[in-house]
Amino acid sequence: MSFKMHLLTGRTVAVILLVLLLLGVLYSYIWRHYRDGIFGQEVRPADGSSSRVDFTIVNHWFHLVASDYLEYQQPSIVQGRTDVVTVTPWLAPIVWEGTYNPQLLDSIYRPQNISIAATVFAVGKYTKFLRDFLETAEQHFFVGFKVHVYVFTDRPKEVHQVKMAAGRQLTVVPVPGSNRWQEISARRMELIQTLIEEKLQNHMDYIFCLDVDSKFHGRWGTESLGALVAVIHPGYYKDDRSKFPYERRHESTAYVAPGKGDFYYCGGAFGGLLQEVHRLANTCRTNFEADAKKGIEAAWQEESHLNRYMLINKPTKVLSPEYLWQDFKPRNPEVRIIRFSGVIKNYADIRPNV
Ligand code: UDP
Ligand code: MN
Repeated sequence: MSFKMHLLTGRTVAVILLVLLLLGVLYSYIWRHYRDGIFGQEVRPADGSSSRVDFTIVNHWFHLVASDYLEYQQPSIVQGRTDVVTVTPWLAPIVWEGTYNPQLLDSIYRPQNISIAATVFAVGKYTKFLRDFLETAEQHFFVGFKVHVYVFTDRPKEVHQVKMAAGRQLTVVPVPGSNRWQEISARRMELIQTLIEEKLQNHMDYIFCLDVDSKFHGRWGTESLGALVAVIHPGYYKDDRSKFPYERRHESTAYVAPGKGDFYYCGGAFGGLLQEVHRLANTCRTNFEADAKKGIEAAWQEESHLNRYMLINKPTKVLSPEYLWQDFKPRNPEVRIIRFSGVIKNYADIRPNV
């Protein structure tokens, strides 16, 4: 009897051990699948995001998230435009038609809810350009995005009322008039700097500063976004840099030495992230004032200072002359689309001085 019981106990223990072993195997099998199912995304992230860590600072500049559902043409690295250069020697993109996919870019930036400020100056008779500028901006400039246009003028009553789409607005900023166009042009940098400091900081992401005597004819959108954005001047892009109309007097802070220079950029359109444009505007204004103290005015006012600045502080995105053409110039074949262009104007008619 006691032997039998002993045998029974021994068998029971063996069964219990076997069951425990089976349970152990089963447990580890189930747990592994469970863990992968729950945390698998974190261990092997599919889209770079983590379900457990909440990165509150998502910077659209460093982190481009595309929609999983958008279908678009396959990109190629061996086929593309060969008639133009699409990257600078410091590896900033040069934006030309046919080098980017607008739908893909918009799908990346739209969920980021970015906002874009635009400044435009209409002092004295230049208010007559406002209507076309504002109406065409509604049709082509960052359509579908949050846009805030700031019009600086000494004639607020002459600002044309334009019907703006939802999410877009216009603010008129009164400024004093002037009897020298050079001064109007030069003061822009100071006013842009002040606007960023007093109104835009923490409210807007990007800013573009544009000439009013121009119209939009084609898309100007998310492809133009960058930290520091410059537009190549349509008048000099095939020229040797010795022909660029830089400030050539040593005494000026805008001086550029012979044999130096990348591209000649427009004073009539530039932009980028708020902090970058603030730095540019502050530097150009300070240098302009230092020159003025010495009785010097750079050859092309703030355009000269901007070109000096961009020579040292390289733009991170460069826009082709599609982004600021001139109506009097016939379109060159490499310019497949004119997006923004300066209208023909009679200087003697509209400027306060000649
Ligand atoms: N501007 C202005 N009133 C003037 C002169 C200039 O409002 O009397 C502003 C306006 O925004 C203009 C910019 O300064 O677009 C640059 O001047 P302008 O267009 O005459 O220079 P250009 O493009 O002919 O070199
Ligand atoms: Mn102009």
